[in-house]
Amino acid sequence: MKPQKKKIEFDRKFYIKWMVIAMTAIWAALAAVWLSMHNWDTEESMKALAQAFTEQPAETEQQVPDEQEEPAVSEEQQTPEEPAEQPAAEPKEEAPAAPAPKDATVYPDIDQLPTEPTIVGGILLANKQHPLPETYAPGEDADTRAAYDTMAQAAADDGLQLVAFSTYRGFARQKELYEGYVAKDGQQAADRYSARPGFSEHQTGMAFDIGEAGQEQHWASASFGETAGGKWVKENAHNYGFILRYPEGKEQITGYMHESWHFRYVGKEAATAIYKQNITLEEYLGI
Ligand SMILES: [Zn+2]
Repeated sequence: MKPQKKKIEFDRKFYIKWMVIAMTAIWAALAAVWLSMHNWDTEESMKALAQAFTEQPAETEQQVPDEQEEPAVSEEQQTPEEPAEQPAAEPKEEAPAAPAPKDATVYPDIDQLPTEPTIVGGILLANKQHPLPETYAPGEDADTRAAYDTMAQAAADDGLQLVAFSTYRGFARQKELYEGYVAKDGQQAADRYSARPGFSEHQTGMAFDIGEAGQEQHWASASFGETAGGKWVKENAHNYGFILRYPEGKEQITGYMHESWHFRYVGKEAATAIYKQNITLEEYLGI
């Protein structure tokens, strides 16, 4: 008896389970058909569904083969007004298109460089969106040089000989370099690793390209980041007011691919905040 009872119970459970699955499948299929009938638009489908529910009584009346109801139905059919259908005919309100995400790697469509440099929160900014005037020629920044010398001394104490192999670059020099890269690799490739004249941070006099003496093969190369010198600068630069200006994975914000050797002087306060929050100068300045 017992096994039989169990079997019946099992069968019932089995039956209920499959009924639930079948019902779910049917509902899902109905929902899919309904959505497809309304251009796969959820909002439109919901509107139509709500409308269908309000119309249902009328439809039921139409379907009932009751002679008495017939005149009422035909009367309804003859009624020129069909208020229930009007909401569907209304043009759907479209949400305003979200602005396209900013891509800092793209140069702005401008004919002329500005006449004044961009300074945000006391920090001079030079990137693809904020170029410098052609005439802006401050030379190497004295504070940056002093901070670098202090940092280089600290590195030397740790047994590392740092070299700032490229610091201030004037407009004319950048023009020469950029045009050379374009001739060699094409403009698209050159724009990823070099700045057009007027758009280089080296023109501020506050950007230093750093390498290690005797490790020239890693200068201006991603591999510098893997060397002892590269790691030391990355982890200590903020204590001297420098930031790793173009970190990995931030190309869309900074406009440039990762450069393990390019450091920018922004002062200790800003540099420490940027380092600790693991952000870029653009994010720190909120632009
Ligand atoms: Zn550089």
